[in-house]
Amino acid sequence: MWLVWAPFLSNSYMSEKPIRRYLFASDFDQTLTFNDSGYVLAELVGIPTHEFERKAKGMAKINLVQQGAELAYLLLHDPEFRAKVRKEHLYEVGKRIRLKGDIQLLYQLLENGIDGHQFDFYVLSAAPVEVIHSALEGIVPHDHIFGTEFRYTQSGEIDTIVRATAGYGKVAVLDQLMLQQVAGPDHVIYCGDGSSDVHVMLHINARDGLTIAVSESPHISQIAKRTVLSTSALAVLAPILEEVAGWERYRIRSFFEANGRLIQEWERVRTDWLTLRTVETSETSETVAPTQE
Ligand SMILES: [Mg+2]
Repeated sequence: MWLVWAPFLSNSYMSEKPIRRYLFASDFDQTLTFNDSGYVLAELVGIPTHEFERKAKGMAKINLVQQGAELAYLLLHDPEFRAKVRKEHLYEVGKRIRLKGDIQLLYQLLENGIDGHQFDFYVLSAAPVEVIHSALEGIVPHDHIFGTEFRYTQSGEIDTIVRATAGYGKVAVLDQLMLQQVAGPDHVIYCGDGSSDVHVMLHINARDGLTIAVSESPHISQIAKRTVLSTSALAVLAPILEEVAGWERYRIRSFFEANGRLIQEWERVRTDWLTLRTVETSETSETVAPTQE
């Protein structure tokens, strides 16, 4: 009987496939969390929700800033936000914001690699970087987090914006990461929930990467290649393992179970968005009616 002692056979050695590296980038607000940093911050500093909404919607309407950067603009230019908000408030928002489940497990599984695929996890968000650092402390390293960065005055007021990672700003950061990681554009996966993610998703789709929507918002779910809704951040692994690793469902279920998570329900629904209105039937209309033969 032959006994082979092979302590060097780690997963990567045992796998016949060479390691393929991917960039996994995720939005923060409502993608890794259940709520929005802006709402939590407004509540913390005593600005009523309706007042924050009015200001943010007003900003979005005039299209002065990239979609998603409304909070950053308000922090810099709105007298009330500017007078009240300091760095410590942003850290406190990070502690108060409700995170989706299993972000740490998702980070670890992606980093350790699955079936010859290894994923570098980054966060790209329009939220202030202090909020994200604080919320993901001990989960995602600081140098893997790209949020909106401010410069502060000596008295602690927000002075200027150094970088806003919103709208096209996300594409710029992603392109920089691709250069650093030497990852091809088809080796990029992006998850997001909202209009701030449209630019980056279109950019990735055009280059054969994978885009995943985590909300049913029509802005984004019509653009993303896959949509997955869950209270757990780990759920994005299902479309990743299907699309990137080519796994079947039973294998994905077993993988989740081996990592201590049962997939209790997995429904796939294809959603068609239809808005109907009554056809105008004015006599003056020049519409030609279809003829019957
Ligand atoms: Mg978001």
